Amino acid sequence: MNWLKTHRNDAILVAVLLAAAGALALFLWFTRQSGGYVSVQMDGEAVMELSLDKDIWIVLGEGERTNTLVIENRRARVVEASCPDQICVGHWPVRYEGESIVCLPHKLVVTVHSGLPAMDYDAVAG
Ligand SMILES: [Zn+2]
Repeated sequence: MNWLKTHRNDAILVAVLLAAAGALALFLWFTRQSGGYVSVQMDGEAVMELSLDKDIWIVLGEGERTNTLVIENRRARVVEASCPDQICVGHWPVRYEGESIVCLPHKLVVTVHSGLPAMDYDAVAG
């Protein structure tokens, strides 16, 4: 039990640090900012901004190069894409400020922002 005697304070310190780190992680998790809208970039250009308040189903791109973006329950996700790697389709739905879905082959970036969209896009959801 000698080890415990000499290392007891270290063990307590480690436990306290772990608890603090856990509390901080929890705090950050609960105070995450829900986004207000997503911006869509294609080929480095801002194409549109879509409010997360409105459910929408939209096909981005054209011809052989399409990504189907869906906004539902204040989350945005790519449900279908013609890209070879399908990484964008496999990405989890984004909803928090700063989260993004990237489709490298199509140079498509969907990013969540807080606040309201500057330009609203009133497409008819199909
Ligand atoms: Zn993709």
